[in-house]
Formats: sequence, structure tokens, C-alpha cells
Amino acid sequence: MKKTNLELLTQENKMNLNGYSVQDIGDDHLFTGLETPMKPDAFNLSDTEKKEKIAILFEEIMDVLGLDLTDDSLKGTPKRVAKMYIEEIFSGLNPENKPKIALFDNKYQYNQMLVEKNITFYSNCEHHFVPIIGKAHVAYISSGKVIGLSKLNRIVHYFAKRPQVQERLTNQIANELKTILNTEDIAVIIDAKHLCVSSRGIKDETSATVTSYYGGAFKKQAKITELQNYLKD
Ligand SMILES: [Zn+2]
Repeated sequence: MKKTNLELLTQENKMNLNGYSVQDIGDDHLFTGLETPMKPDAFNLSDTEKKEKIAILFEEIMDVLGLDLTDDSLKGTPKRVAKMYIEEIFSGLNPENKPKIALFDNKYQYNQMLVEKNITFYSNCEHHFVPIIGKAHVAYISSGKVIGLSKLNRIVHYFAKRPQVQERLTNQIANELKTILNTEDIAVIIDAKHLCVSSRGIKDETSATVTSYYGGAFKKQAKITELQNYLKD
């Protein structure tokens, strides 16, 4: 029997995605690589042009849902959403918004691990576009240079402000710190709640997802234990 276009497309997707369908991937939150998948022409439009376009498209979604866009409470929503997407919650897609990081000499000769714990972040699941809310714990051992503490928070926030999956967020933060601090001795632990798991789908209110990256010296059990001791309570 001849297959419909949709069936062919589904078959093709399954081959590309190791036998999973697009729906399987979404609800199981699998991801495909370290880099956020972006189109080569991602920045052809200016932020202003993107906001105008998103506002039109979001208005259409609301219209299709049957909402009355002439209502005072709703009429500003498409523009508000567009502004929020570009300037806030997805601003980390634009490399221009990457925090500028100054490094300082390690004057105190502090050569133990530095841990910045409980960095609160808000992200959005790229499969459902609903929030991921969590805490990141970041640690490094200086290879000669140190970085301002608040910059660790800024790096976490920059990568969180993208449509994300938690594994990629973890690895992107670790990778950035490795590059900036010129060391493999980096650890990143993320403990987060995914609203697509708690508010819909399986509707599990209590589960949380923990992901980690241990590089260089942090691969040794003694360092992992030391780090975990700092993270208690
Ligand atoms: Zn999701």
C-alpha cells in the first residue's frame, strides 16, 4: 500500500532520530548535541524585525485558539510575548548577549576548588516551550586566573535563556567555563524542575532532574565527595 506523505515523513524522521518519532523525542526530552541547533541565517533579521514578526505570528496562534484580540486584556499580549522572547527569555540565543568576562590574576594563590552554589535560573524546555526552574552549582579550580563571582551566575543565566534541554544546558555552561578559565577542572551540577513534567504529560509534581558534568580533577572521587559536602543543605 502506498504511504501518505505524513507516514513517509514520520518514517524519515524515525531513521534520523535513531528510531524515535518526533513525539517520542519531545516527551522523553532526548537531545541531539552540545550546540543549540541554529539555522545559518539565524541573525539575518534584526531584533526589532524579529519582535514584529513574532507578534504577528503569536497573534495568529491566539486567534486560532479563538481568543478575542480586541479585548483590552488580550490585545497587548502578542507584542508583550514577542518582546519577552527576544529581550528576556530567549536572549541567550544571540551571541551578542553573551556576558563579557574579565579574568583576574589569582593573587591570593587560592588553589582549592571554588564553589558557587544555588544559582537560581529560569529556562524553557525546547520540546514544550514551558519553564524549567532550577538551581545550578558551579565549581572550578583556578589554573592561574580567576573570574568575578557574579560572572558565574551570568554565564548560567545566558545559556538558560534559550530553549533548552537540561543535559545541553549543563554541558554548555561547563564548556564555556573550560574555555574562559583555561582549565579542565570544572564541575557543573543542575537540579531542576520541568513544568512540562509537573503541569502536563505525566503530571509529576515532586520529581526533579539532576544532571552533572565533572571534568579534570573533578573526575576523582575525593573531589566529587568534597564538592558534594559543600552542596549539602
Ligand atoms: Zn518538555
